[in-house]
Amino acid sequence: MKRIDIHVHLHMDDPLMDRHVEQAGEKGVTALLVHAVPNDICPPLGDNEHVLAAMRKHPGVVFGSMQIDLRRGAALCVETVRHWAGEGFKCVKMYPNLGFDPADPRHDPVWAEIEARGLLCLPHCGYIQISPIYPTMSLTSLTASPFHFERAARMFPGIHFIMAHFGGAATYLETLVLCQRLANFHADCTPGQGTWVWKCRLPGIEDMPFDHFLWGTDAGPEAIDGSAAFWDGTFDDLGVAAEDRQRFYYDNAAALLAVG
Ligand SMILES: [Zn+2]
Repeated sequence: MKRIDIHVHLHMDDPLMDRHVEQAGEKGVTALLVHAVPNDICPPLGDNEHVLAAMRKHPGVVFGSMQIDLRRGAALCVETVRHWAGEGFKCVKMYPNLGFDPADPRHDPVWAEIEARGLLCLPHCGYIQISPIYPTMSLTSLTASPFHFERAARMFPGIHFIMAHFGGAATYLETLVLCQRLANFHADCTPGQGTWVWKCRLPGIEDMPFDHFLWGTDAGPEAIDGSAAFWDGTFDDLGVAAEDRQRFYYDNAAALLAVG
């Protein structure tokens, strides 16, 4: 089965993602949405300029997702979005755990720019692990939940939001509420929280609309087989139809990334 991995990162030991692209391709993964991270606080992972280099090396396979930090203010973030969108990035990644509230109206110019550029937004949700070299860094899960993106999703319906990690372990019900109601609200299944919710068969998951649910690994290509085995087994157990699996593994992501 063809698959698109909606959530991976660039590891600096594979700087142009040659190894990742080759091994993923051998396993039927035809496209990767690669999310930049702030390289100053997560040194082993690539920032916007690293992702751009991999995009240029692997056009049509590596799709870029720029990271922005809303603490820097709307004017600077609008410039950042404009710049990287101009380089061909398809998505915006953000980490509200750093200490901003995505629902704050001060960020509206940034959402307007993201919408005008036709970009997706895949925010980190739930608990976050950042480099162990900063053990006391100011981080919180409070602002990293799906309800914090509801306002922007309602006011800027042209932006498709994808909640990473199924919206977080404790807040997955917010994901279910919004994915059932908003056409532009989606979630990925990535570990640990996104996988954990399904592994535990937590209440309500049977009502997740599969046209809003996307496969991803948040890992290197060595994780692909194990991830596919976990989800195939979970879907067998839950009686998920073949068409819904096809949406989950490929069709939903292909539509959002506009790939054939
Ligand atoms: Zn990630």
